[in-house]
Amino acid sequence: MTKPPEWQIRCPWCNASPGQRCTSPRGRRLAVESHDARITAHTVQTARQTGASQ
Ligand SMILES: [Zn+2]
Repeated sequence: MTKPPEWQIRCPWCNASPGQRCTSPRGRRLAVESHDARITAHTVQTARQTGASQ
């Protein structure tokens, strides 16, 4: 089992801690591993870290 790379950051949507899977507002498991917002945030952060501008 490999954790999704976006788990390295906190989810801006449900506030799941790094290393933790996303949860619904009521703490239930989601059908998906991560919220789209978390994936997007991780993508943006990774792009900045690698110096990819634009
Ligand atoms: Zn989330």
